[in-house]
Amino acid sequence: MLSQKFESIKRQYPRLAPLLDRLVAYIQAQTEDGQEYIIPKLAAVALHLNDGEAFVLLDLLSEAGVLRRVYNVYCRKENALLATVDSPDELDEIPPHCDFCDRDHDLSDLKVEIAFTPTTDALRDLAA
Ligand SMILES: [Zn+2]
Repeated sequence: MLSQKFESIKRQYPRLAPLLDRLVAYIQAQTEDGQEYIIPKLAAVALHLNDGEAFVLLDLLSEAGVLRRVYNVYCRKENALLATVDSPDELDEIPPHCDFCDRDHDLSDLKVEIAFTPTTDALRDLAA
């Protein structure tokens, strides 16, 4: 059974409730698959939404406390995840060294992507 947070967001946006149910089913499947991060454009493909719609729905779930919005930093060359931070301010604090390339990267060598990750509460509910 999913958290009251999720039920309340569905009550708040009744027209979005069916989509939110599908999105949560997708998040649950990803989580069971061992995927830590929900990427808006992948969720969009899976649910036949456009990127913007998927982002808005994921953002609603993050406002509801079901998901947490994070910023994933990738090495552009290796497409490898280097760091995950909670706010854009922290992007400045990421060490420039890339273990995959074994050298320091400029910001232009990096790619930042917004992702969402289930909160601890949500993970407990999703596993229930
Ligand atoms: Zn690199």
